[in-house]
Formats: sequence, structure tokens, C-alpha cells
Amino acid sequence: MEVLEYDIVILGSGLAGMRAALQAAKASNDQLRIALVSKLHAMRSHSVSAEGGISGVLYSGQHGDSVDLHGYDTAKGSDFLGDQDAIELLVNHAPSEIKLFDHLGVPWNRDKSDKITLRAFGGMSVPRTAFAGDKTGFFMLSALYDSLLSFSNIKIFHEHIATKLIIEKKQFRGLVAMDMATGEMKAFVSNAGIIATGGFGRSYGFTTTSYSSTGDGHALAYEAGLPLKDMEFIQFHPTALIPSGILITEAARGEGAYLLNSDGKRFMENYAKSKMELAPRDIVSRSIITEIEAGRGIKDERFGDTEFVYLDMRHLGEAKINERLPNIKEIAIKMIGIDPSDAPLPVKPACHFTMGGIHTNIDGNVISGPKGVIVGLWAAGECGCVSVHGANRLGSNSLSECVIWGKITGNAAARLASKGRPVSDEVIKNTLAAEEKRIISMIESDGKENPYDIRRDLWRTMDAKVGVYRDAKALTEAVHEIGALQKRFAHIGLGDKGRVYNTNLKDTLEIWNMLLLSRAVAECALNRRESRGAHSRKEYPKRDDKNWLKHTIVTLGDDKNKITYGKVKITKWQPEERKY
Ligand SMILES: Cc1cc2nc3c(=O)[nH]c(=O)nc-3n(C[C@H](O)[C@H](O)[C@H](O)COP(=O)(O)OP(=O)(O)OC[C@H]3O[C@@H](n4cnc5c(N)ncnc54)[C@H](O)[C@@H]3O)c2cc1C
Repeated sequence: MEVLEYDIVILGSGLAGMRAALQAAKASNDQLRIALVSKLHAMRSHSVSAEGGISGVLYSGQHGDSVDLHGYDTAKGSDFLGDQDAIELLVNHAPSEIKLFDHLGVPWNRDKSDKITLRAFGGMSVPRTAFAGDKTGFFMLSALYDSLLSFSNIKIFHEHIATKLIIEKKQFRGLVAMDMATGEMKAFVSNAGIIATGGFGRSYGFTTTSYSSTGDGHALAYEAGLPLKDMEFIQFHPTALIPSGILITEAARGEGAYLLNSDGKRFMENYAKSKMELAPRDIVSRSIITEIEAGRGIKDERFGDTEFVYLDMRHLGEAKINERLPNIKEIAIKMIGIDPSDAPLPVKPACHFTMGGIHTNIDGNVISGPKGVIVGLWAAGECGCVSVHGANRLGSNSLSECVIWGKITGNAAARLASKGRPVSDEVIKNTLAAEEKRIISMIESDGKENPYDIRRDLWRTMDAKVGVYRDAKALTEAVHEIGALQKRFAHIGLGDKGRVYNTNLKDTLEIWNMLLLSRAVAECALNRRESRGAHSRKEYPKRDDKNWLKHTIVTLGDDKNKITYGKVKITKWQPEERKY
């Protein structure tokens, strides 16, 4: 066991975590010691797989675009649940962040006059998404990683999985993490911490997200008694490749790809006549499920027994596909042996993004309860809910959120950390010792339950009962089934009893986190008796602003979680009927 002292500890090395580290390092003039802790090698963070691009108004006036229009699109896309002060902040800061990454070396696609090319994305009125082919996340994360390596005061702890936050009297004190390579437990003592652990899309079986997207940061905060916000809002991306669930980026439709049903018809004209395939994701996903349920889905035994629709990009031509969507082409050929220049791709909605997260104020400062914040603790990126995406995120707004709130929280952490050095004391040592004991007893557990069976059953429940369309019966069953899985978890047994690279243990810690969060999702979804954005209740098909224009706030309870509601901030854009 080891106790390490740092001025700032950042948990997570995706775009949000790395951007926070860069900002904190710049703001600290090389003076502050910064630890970047990641359960993966930093460059394997999920952000690396972001494909389509990052939104921001680079050329105001082009196609009639403006920062205000970006704000309106985002508020409308959120089904008016997004906090509009945060949305304004997002759209105002996005252009300068894209330019920063230009300076850091991201090879944005450019036109002949060297201007950064912008592509269309769902729910955006005009093209305003900058991109680097269809590997935008990879290029942005590489650029950040290269920059961080030039700071001698940043230490990256690759493959260290955090297991506990240390919070005392509403003050952040540090965290405990396990070094995967040795199994050693380490306490990182710090007055300033930023959680940037990404989403929890892996709580579903059919998902586009990485295996590492298990919501650990959410769960650590939740277990520390902190509230989570808007957990019922899960984004289903319309076009995940059958049967793996690998994403076919919305950029494919942005470049002009069509969706076709079994009659070969572009069915989106029945659901969103003006936007067609580029309606927001919640609408396109519902339309696909509706087509399949109406008997207009397609079956092909080569791809298993799931029904799907076609994503057709043949008319784009090979040259455009090679230039704009090379990654998609490679994925389709490798995974199912189909070249999208020659044949349409089988696709279906899959869990893709989690709008809900750790409840923060507009500065990313973690809220402690009904009143006040945790001093010295921030959350940024997909794990935080600030909330810009409300009930439905628009594609390409997440990368903007990650880097903007990475910057904001990095600055805030540096300001606070410069006021005094952290001290380790009995609280830290006792917490570390208790965590060591807990981890050892987990390794030694020899119960009959295999954690992977529990995960498989969780995936079945989430896919079948907490999907695109929901109803009270299915959600009630889901709550009970997840509760039963939590009870089974008490009787797990681990096959791997070692401490070196015990991935069996890591997976088990993650499975518990997903159980906790999935239960919160199902309970919050059951409570919200309206349809808004990505949350579609069959019995309540309409949005109900009178009763439900409010954020869900959930805190962990022993048997049932406590759910309360909070105000949505409306500044410029009054709620209106959402038509596309
Ligand atoms: C396939 C795909 C493509 C996407 N494409 C786009 C796009 O083009 N544009 C867009 O705007 N959005 C896109 N998104 C969404 C976007 O990629 C994510 O929301 C964003 O990358 C999340 O970044 P993050 O920094 O919050 O977290 P992540 O990149 O998920 O990083 C999380 C970090 O936390 C660490 N971590 C987690 N738990 C622990 C723990 N217990 N201990 C230590 N470390 C931990 C991980 O190691 C990792 O470093 C896409 C999503 C998917 C699934």
C-alpha cells in the first residue's frame, strides 16, 4: 500500500480528463503536481473511438449559421430539458476549442481554400461539425496526449482502477486506486479532484460503447452519497452494425446515406419530413423500431435472428466514402464482409451515450445534496451532468462538452490547489486499509455466482425492458430483476485469486457499478410519466411540460433510491413543440 500526494488528481484520461490536465498544467505554471489516473492505458480511453466530429460555429454567417442557432438547435434537441445557461456556455466556447486543437495538430478535413470543412449532423440546422475523416476522437486524443507528455509536472498512472472516493465533511480529500500491474492499492491524496470517467453504456448488451464504459465515476460518487441527475435519459444511436453493435457514424447520414425498410422505402419521410435521416437520434431510433414492429424490418440469417433496416450509402460513390468515411468502410468489410460502396449495411439502434450523470453546477463542481457543493471536486465529460444535452444529445456536441468542461474544471482545480498542499492523515490511511481489506475479501470470495452470468442477465434485462420504448410493466420488472441481481452479487466467487492483472476482479468491480446505475436508470424511468427526448413511455406518448419540465435527482438508498426533482434553467429558448 502506498500513499501519494498530488495537488490535483484527475480520474480518467479521455478527452475531458486530458483536456483538464492540459489546462491545469498551463494554469499552474509548472508548479502544481498533477496525477492523471486511468484504468486503461491513457490512449485506449473510449474517446479514441469517437468518429464523426465536434460541433462549433467556426464560420458565423456561413449557410446562415450563428452561435445563437447552435444554442437553439441544442436546446430543441434536448427536448428543452438542457440547462440553457450551460448550453450558451457550450456554444460560445466551442469554436475556440476547435481552433485550439487545430494548433495542437489535429488534421481537420479542409476545403480547397484551406478552410476547415464542416459536415451535417442530426438535429443541427446547418453543417457545423468539424471532423478528421471518421477518426476524430483518435486525432484529438493523440494531440492532447502528445501535449501532456511535454509537461514534467503531469504524471500519468496508466492501468490504475479507482475503487473509492475520499470525501470528508463535504470536502474532497483524494481517492483510492488499484495498480492493475501489481494489485497494489494506492491512496492519491489531493485537495482538488476531477472525475472524468466517461459514460455507462456498457450496462446494455447491444451497445456501441467500449467495454470500459461502465460508469465507475458515477458509481463511486453515488456510493459516496452524491446525487446523480437525469439517469433515465439513455441515447440509442440509430445505426449500430448488426450483429456486433459497432457504430456506423451519423456522419454517414450527414454525407447523404439513406435508411431503407424491407420495401426499399426511405421511411424517414413518414416521421421527419424536413430532416429525413438527419432528424435527431431519438426520433430516428424510434422510427426504426416502429418500422420493425410494423413488419417492415429485414432479416438475414448471415447476421443472426435480429431484425434490422438498411443504411444505404452506395450512391455516395467509392471516392467520397474513401475520403470521408474510410474507417466505416474498413469496419464493415472486416466485421461482416460488406463494402458499403457495393451493398447496404444492416443496422439497428443501440445504446450509445448516457445523458445523465454526476449532478454538477455550471462550473462542473459536484453538488453535495439539496444545498451546496463538494469543495474541491468536479466532474467533466460524459460522466458529468451539467446539463447541456437534457433529454437527448445532438451528435457531435459531446466532444465539445468534454473539452470545454475539461478546460473549465482544469482551471478551477488549479486555482483551488494553488491555495495549499494536501496532507495525508488517519482518515486517508484508514480508508486505504479498509479498501485493501475489501478487495482481498472480494478476491477470496468463493460463492457460487459467476459475475459474468450476472452481467449477461443485466444486459438481457436492460436490452429488453429499458430500451427505446418503455412502459410501466417492463420497467417495474426491470427494477425487480436488477434488485435480484444485486442480491446474487452478494454470493459471487472469483476464478482468479491472484493480484497481478486480475481482470476478473476489475470486471467484477465494474459489474457492481453497472448494477447500481442500471437500477437508478430503471427507477427514474419508471417515475417519469411522460415522453421527452430519448425517454419514450408507451402509456404517456406526449411531453408534459406542466408536470415534468424538471431534472430528476437520485440518491442511493438501502432498498429504494430517493428521487427528487430540480428546476431546469430556461434563458432564451422557450419550450415549443419539437418538429423536424
Ligand atoms: C463509438 C462512438 C463514437 C462517438 N463519436 C462521437 C463523435 O463523433 N462526436 C461526439 O461529440 N461524440 C461522440 N461520441 C460520444 C463521445 O465519444 C463520448 O461522450 C466522449 O468521448 C466521452 O469522453 P470522456 O472524456 O467523458 O470519457 P472517456 O473517453 O470514456 O474516458 C473515460 C476515462 O475514464 C477512465 N476510467 C473509467 N473508470 C475508471 C476507474 N474506475 N478508475 C480509473 N480510471 C477510470 C478510463 O480509463 C478513461 O480514461 C461517440 C460515442 C461512441 C460510443
